[in-house]
Amino acid sequence: MNAAVFLDRDGTLNEDVGYISRPADLNLYPWAAEAVRAINKSGMKVIVVTNQSGVARGFYTETELRIVHDKMSAELGQAGATMDAVYYCPHHPRFVDSPYGIECLCRKPKPGLLTLAAREHSIDLEASFVIGDKWSDLELALNAGATPVLVLTGYGRETLARLEGGRFRPSIIASDLLGAVGDVLAQRSRMRHRR
Ligand SMILES: [Mg+2]
Ligand SMILES: [Zn+2]
Repeated sequence: MNAAVFLDRDGTLNEDVGYISRPADLNLYPWAAEAVRAINKSGMKVIVVTNQSGVARGFYTETELRIVHDKMSAELGQAGATMDAVYYCPHHPRFVDSPYGIECLCRKPKPGLLTLAAREHSIDLEASFVIGDKWSDLELALNAGATPVLVLTGYGRETLARLEGGRFRPSIIASDLLGAVGDVLAQRSRMRHRR
């Protein structure tokens, strides 16, 4: 069985500039490739999981979305960093005129993208992590039995403010993806030594 680090896209790997329909609008954070390389080196899978309701909203097609992801993959690849897979949810229940306007099982925080990835890549979700900037990313981790990690880029600071005084606090909170990956790898080596 593999372990994975599931990465949110917007606000985690790249600047959250709203709905991205063109490759030119995808700006990876300057530390993204180094963070992904570090996960690659650890032997864990790197799997991007992203809600892309822009498809249901008619802002872009799945083909256009894939072109954006191809650019992301190529740019990371040039820096020696590999994504093992990208899973996206194109749905949104509110846009009923669209074939994507359904109540699906894959829109985060529902765990559908993770359970599919787990099947296709033989991943042990309990040994895996989800890194993201929104409450839905943290909730996704909890729903799937993985460890939630909050980054303070994107909507991260707003998410943290919402958590203050609440019932739940992720064990890892990091300023950005590179810091988060460092903390994840440290926690993983502690977990392995305990076994
Ligand atoms: Mg995000
Ligand atoms: Zn979906």
